[in-house]
Amino acid sequence: MIQVLVARGGLEIKHLLDKKGINRVLVLITHHHTDHIYALTTLKPSEVYLPRGEELLVTSKSFRVFLDYGLDLTAIDKTAGSTIAPGIELNNFLSVKEGEEVCGFKAIDLKGHSPGQLGYSLNNELLYVGDALFGDKVLSRVKIPYLNDYSDYVNSLYRLMELYSRVEYKYVIMGHGPLVNSKSDLAKLIDLNIRYLEDVEKHVVASLKEPRTLDQLTSIIIQRLGIEESPISYLLTNTSLRAVVNHLAQSRRINVYVEKRTIIP
Ligand SMILES: [Zn+2]
Repeated sequence: MIQVLVARGGLEIKHLLDKKGINRVLVLITHHHTDHIYALTTLKPSEVYLPRGEELLVTSKSFRVFLDYGLDLTAIDKTAGSTIAPGIELNNFLSVKEGEEVCGFKAIDLKGHSPGQLGYSLNNELLYVGDALFGDKVLSRVKIPYLNDYSDYVNSLYRLMELYSRVEYKYVIMGHGPLVNSKSDLAKLIDLNIRYLEDVEKHVVASLKEPRTLDQLTSIIIQRLGIEESPISYLLTNTSLRAVVNHLAQSRRINVYVEKRTIIP
């Protein structure tokens, strides 16, 4: 029998499992981000399934930190740095890719927020989307949905709508947002996520009337959008903006060039 537990963290889940006498725990990971893997350190599951291509990002903290922040946070902010999950040693993990099934859960490619993010669907009941989609409260707080690849992120949003048009899942569950159980609510949230991205794009183009380095651009966008000024939000904004700049350069709306050894979008 599959039991779905909704809990806030590793310890809380562990407590619930012990109370129910469940000792075989199988974990499906959507992507490698700290808040989606930290519980593995306390849960010690029997089996862990990871999206193909994100294995090293879970087991190695340096790989993860380099991709997501570009800088080890402990060097500049000890408190924020200590919230990052350590490299997690996994002797019992298996890789999953799009279309594969684990205990009835089917893996769905939802990359963009991270390079290999997967969602999981269970019959017509559940569609777990990880961080492919964010709720309105989170968006109004962070201003930029965190992303590694702009086109992949947008394609995954359209993919979600297309999946839901074929199967009306009872619940769509996201990592950070409300439970969605209607087509219109899902469509509204997808639109909202796209609007936030388009808004960032607009601000980036408007800020590049003259050449800027990526770091200058990050500071300007943080001010323009009123993003919280902290080391962690600076680094996350910088990573997402790299993806936006890449997208704008690929669609020839801006030029990226190197001058006097400085990369200038
Ligand atoms: Zn994430």
